[in-house]
Amino acid sequence: MLNCGCRARPALLMSGPQPTPNRVRRVCPLCEQDDAAPFMEKEALRLVRCCQCSMIYASPVEPELASGKFYDRLGVPFYLSADKLESDYAPVRFERELRLFRSYCPAGAVLDVGCSTGAFLFQLKNRYLRDYAVTGTDVAGAALDHAESRGVEVVRESFLNGDFRERRFDAVTFWAVMEHLVEPKRFLHKAALVLKPGGYCFVLVPNLRSLAVRVLGVRYRYIMPDHVNYFTAATLQQFVATEPAFEIIQIGSSHFNPVVLLKDIRGGMERVADEERARLLKRTTAYKQNLLLRPAKWAYSGVEWLLTRLKLADNLFVVLRKRF
Ligand SMILES: [Zn+2]
Repeated sequence: MLNCGCRARPALLMSGPQPTPNRVRRVCPLCEQDDAAPFMEKEALRLVRCCQCSMIYASPVEPELASGKFYDRLGVPFYLSADKLESDYAPVRFERELRLFRSYCPAGAVLDVGCSTGAFLFQLKNRYLRDYAVTGTDVAGAALDHAESRGVEVVRESFLNGDFRERRFDAVTFWAVMEHLVEPKRFLHKAALVLKPGGYCFVLVPNLRSLAVRVLGVRYRYIMPDHVNYFTAATLQQFVATEPAFEIIQIGSSHFNPVVLLKDIRGGMERVADEERARLLKRTTAYKQNLLLRPAKWAYSGVEWLLTRLKLADNLFVVLRKRF
């Protein structure tokens, strides 16, 4: 539905506040050309489609998205809300990521970029205590305070500015991070620099061709101002191929949240409040943990299996290995 050429379908366009004058115009984050056409609008969010490589991205964007101040501000209402923390720290929250991660990296030094409150690293350490040394990095100060309180070592700097000296990692993870970055290629390059030869890089992003986006279009809650890059399987593959130090080991699709889908079908076009997103995450986590819902879970697993095979699940992931 969204892959509709360089011009957005009128039905997908929405009226909303006009961009502020100090917004920053971006070149394509994939091919770095400045040749894009309007694709979609949602309130103040302006998405364009690169006419050279088909990448969908936000332009112009607010300057504080680039500086990270935005995420520092978001900390308390969203990342540090009780509902979000409870959901993130639930054992089922990162089960897919952990399964994927363990299948390639059974032990070693791990760096989680955009670690937020440290939930992924906490799960990794908690389950496989002897196998990993974990470090997280983020620009959201309050979220890092929480990560530290849970025993996760943190680097309090933008990953790009982080001085890792001689430290090299066996794995670098970007779970739902690349879609937030104004200059994602620089982060991919830095990941290659801090990995050991043969080390793995994991990238997970929302899927612009998911069932949810096809059904909901612009109403999908994850088409939102702090998501500035929108990948399809094709553009994700092109994106990671721009870093010559990496070879692609696996590319796939994962996660399906029917509760979000149903909720957004019923909901209007307005932005979903951060607190509401956190509440819904907590509720879907509770469904996953409820034993009485097991038959429904089996049916759900079947649907998710099918969607991942068709690359229609909510997220896309890619596993990269640094060349020797
Ligand atoms: Zn491009």
